[in-house]
Amino acid sequence: MHRMLAQRTLKTLTKAVGVGLHSGQRVELTLRPAPPNTGIVFRRVDLPEPVSIPVNAEAITDTRLASTISSGQAKVLTIEHLMSACCGLGIDNLYVDITAEEVPILDGSAAAFVYLLQSAGIATQNAAKQFIRVTKPVEVREGEGDKLKWARLEPYHGYRLSFEIDFSHPAVDNTGQVVVFDMSEDVYARDIGRARTFGFTRDVEMLRANGLALGGGLDNAIVMDDYKVLNADGLRYDDEFVKHKILDAIGDLYVVGKPLLAAYSAFRSGHALNNRLLRELLAHPEAWEIVSFEDESKAPKGFAALQPAW
Ligand SMILES: [Zn+2]
Repeated sequence: MHRMLAQRTLKTLTKAVGVGLHSGQRVELTLRPAPPNTGIVFRRVDLPEPVSIPVNAEAITDTRLASTISSGQAKVLTIEHLMSACCGLGIDNLYVDITAEEVPILDGSAAAFVYLLQSAGIATQNAAKQFIRVTKPVEVREGEGDKLKWARLEPYHGYRLSFEIDFSHPAVDNTGQVVVFDMSEDVYARDIGRARTFGFTRDVEMLRANGLALGGGLDNAIVMDDYKVLNADGLRYDDEFVKHKILDAIGDLYVVGKPLLAAYSAFRSGHALNNRLLRELLAHPEAWEIVSFEDESKAPKGFAALQPAW
């Protein structure tokens, strides 16, 4: 008797309170179990008529500073770190009730979301987990010379991400600028999830003047001036910058609605290019297929063993 690789949700609901990075608004977040084949669905429960916004690649309507999803007039900003944690812990189905238009930034990484999800407990469901398996390479590019960016998906039995950044800044130069991360090693929470978002004081001043980054500060980001990291405790990982780019990419790509079986590689990509990559993939139905594993031992190493810590 084979055991299928099953979908997952939470055992019970869990709540968090925080502020939005850009809006600075206080927001309550409630993560609730959802039935099989629901996917991740945000619900704006503060509106006179609550609005559900199922996450999918087309629901992403703005990627300038963070990934925003919309349905009609209702939107939710900065979904990528929570989406990343869901992917990292293998959560397929979840309702995310939210009382404002931005997911709380918490500590600027996915660590608090990982903690919330693990504390609620992860339940397997009576439905096969579905993956999008990439069968042909897909690539998007932007710019040229020192403005060049690209992102690519290629066939791979598992989920591997490699990311290269190219910042010339005294505080970043000495850190690793390339990271390769394999989801099958089941070390997302330890090796990627704690990497914080980062920003420069000069950009923060410009953003604030435009009414953005109002909730941002040393508690929820790595902040640098022209020379150094300003956070008293320094970095959480030697290569925290590029690890955060991997964390973001995992979240940006998970909006496709199912985990990928693919090798992702990127050079200086960001939310916008990651979303273009997904749309390029979806526009080429011959480049992917939906698969599930009736016998979990046939699944890529690590996915079947992706057991929650508690
Ligand atoms: Zn981020």
